[in-house]
Amino acid sequence: MFLSNLTKILNDINTVLLPKVCFGCNAHLYRGEHQLCTVCRNDIPFTEYSFNVENPVDRIFYGRIAVKKASSFLFYRENSIVQRLIHHLKYKNQEQLGIFLGDWYGQLLKEDLALKQKIDFVIPVPLHRKKLKKRGYNQVAAFAQKLALHLDANYRSDVLVKTANTKTQTKKSRIGRWQSNKDLYVLANTEKIKGKNILLVDDVITTGATMEICANTLLQVPEVTIYIASMAVVPLT
Ligand SMILES: [Zn+2]
Repeated sequence: MFLSNLTKILNDINTVLLPKVCFGCNAHLYRGEHQLCTVCRNDIPFTEYSFNVENPVDRIFYGRIAVKKASSFLFYRENSIVQRLIHHLKYKNQEQLGIFLGDWYGQLLKEDLALKQKIDFVIPVPLHRKKLKKRGYNQVAAFAQKLALHLDANYRSDVLVKTANTKTQTKKSRIGRWQSNKDLYVLANTEKIKGKNILLVDDVITTGATMEICANTLLQVPEVTIYIASMAVVPLT
């Protein structure tokens, strides 16, 4: 606890002493620029997928889980602006980047007619409590909270709970994977989400394995409908 507080204090001191730089390209930020410089902002790769029209994120989940609709905000590629943003969010204590991305995506989503007034609860993919303690925050939390705010929905982080501190297996066969992962997440406080529309949120969708297991866990609640959204998706090649 002491160490994590110390890290936070040092980080705050750094923020004050060091000039602010762009998380995308390290360029000095000018007045009025926040998190990203104007060049990186213009270069950011939006998927332009929506909840209105079928898109490649939907197709990741076809035949795997009963998801109503899926979408992602940005494309995730190695050595890209998006990769650097998410790296800083996850590993460099830059929690505010979740707010930044959530606000941006939330403003787009609230204009998405297929989603408007449909979502009751926004639920983040949870971290195991040990990892949460180590990182100090769930990197998806602030992003999901901003989406909830823009969609006029409730944010709930107490429904889906991660029970084992292991990575989701992605290399096994689909059936093997499901069997070995089915106890990774458990449900709590499910009374309020019965029959509701849930937007399940994560940082990056790669194989969809984490979303699949989380959605399958949530689908144990009677009559819930699951939507999926992420900060970014690895483009299919
Ligand atoms: Zn930049």
